[in-house]
Amino acid sequence: MSHNDPFVGALKQLEKLKNLINLEENIYQQLQSPQKFLEVSIPVKMDNGQIRVFKGFRSQYSNARGPYKGGIRFHPQVNESEVKALSMWMALKTAVVGIPLGGGKGGVIVNPKELSASELEKLSRGYIQAIHKLIGPNVDVPAPDVYTDPKIMGWMLDEYEKLTGGGNPGVITGKPLSIGGSKARSYSTAQGGFYVLQEAVKKMSLHNVRVAVQGFGNAGATMANILAKNGYKVVAVSDSKGGIYNSEGLDMTTLSVHKEKTGSVASFFGAQNIDGNILFQEVDILVLAALENSVTLENAEQIKAQLIIELANGPITHEADEILDKAGKVVVPDILANAGGVVVSYFEQVQNAYNYYWEEKDVLEKLAKIMTQSFDEVWRKKEKYNTNMRTGAYALAVERIGQAMKDRGWI
Ligand code: NAD
Repeated sequence: MSHNDPFVGALKQLEKLKNLINLEENIYQQLQSPQKFLEVSIPVKMDNGQIRVFKGFRSQYSNARGPYKGGIRFHPQVNESEVKALSMWMALKTAVVGIPLGGGKGGVIVNPKELSASELEKLSRGYIQAIHKLIGPNVDVPAPDVYTDPKIMGWMLDEYEKLTGGGNPGVITGKPLSIGGSKARSYSTAQGGFYVLQEAVKKMSLHNVRVAVQGFGNAGATMANILAKNGYKVVAVSDSKGGIYNSEGLDMTTLSVHKEKTGSVASFFGAQNIDGNILFQEVDILVLAALENSVTLENAEQIKAQLIIELANGPITHEADEILDKAGKVVVPDILANAGGVVVSYFEQVQNAYNYYWEEKDVLEKLAKIMTQSFDEVWRKKEKYNTNMRTGAYALAVERIGQAMKDRGWI
């Protein structure tokens, strides 16, 4: 296992917490692995008539606080360790924001960009055929993640309902609006991240801030747009093909058109291409919205931003985290910063259960309240234990999960 193995890093963080908060051994031991882990094979008849077998996973980490909850990732680098780490972070995330859910995650090893629409649909339905006995609105509720979207959730819901009979929209969140999706779900991760970013800016008394955003996908591009609309100067953004910089701030409207047309932010006429790494720009805030392990032992020292927002899951390795901590950087951890998505997923489930749908402004009001309150609670734990925000967030989450385990008589 490499030193950047995400599950190993996640467990190290738990270990660090153990002494700090006097975590009971009986709770600690139960948080060392998922309660259930499933590996499946999904045969798909490709357009050329040949069968290709894809490997998929579902990890059910903890249901102490409620049904397992977590997205499904379609990506060539999906692996067992990544799915386990992501499922553990989901359990912590739902606990940090205090919603009555546990944590799970799924994934399929595939590059969906290489599949036709009909192959992608067969794979999505095949994944549900393989795991449907393990999921349900009160058992385990999947959602989108990297390279999965509302359209895929629609196919998955349809397959589940065909297999089980009857309407059951709460089994999956992140659905299209026409079949039980929630308003504001599509941008809820970034919106939630924006609410906590604002709280951090207030706490740190930052003014006239310049922001860089790594990753210009669902989460990152939406965040960049929200920031620009709210008067923040987004001076640099990047995607997998390159990065750009404009000291006056990037024009998001024209940039989005450019990205749509060319498939990348690179070579945008309203900016210069960045030679070096987006992480090293002279900015006050760095938003990490790409994938895991972006900030490592090798590059952490060169980060200039004072405030780092983890919109992606696990973008900073355990070792890099310690470097940033020593350098006095404030890192708003993933399990708080990107929890807006799961909060609105929870709202979606509530609306499905009531079969009554809320206005967008009601969703946003409720989201803002949960995110700002959770930020405060994490900040208080950070102060109480004289630690950083990540450990504060882990402390809050693990204390809540531990309490639920006790109340269930698990320890
Ligand atoms: P996405 O695929 O839409 O976007 C990822 C972006 O990162 C793309 O623009 C890609 O080009 C870019 N990227 C990849 N490698 C890069 C690199 N080396 N340098 C710079 N950019 C790079 O995925 P997403 O849904 O936006 O998810 C991004 C992260 O946010 C993931 O960690 C995901 O788990 C997390 N997240 C997303 C949501 C959500 O609702 N979308 C919710 C919670 C967490």
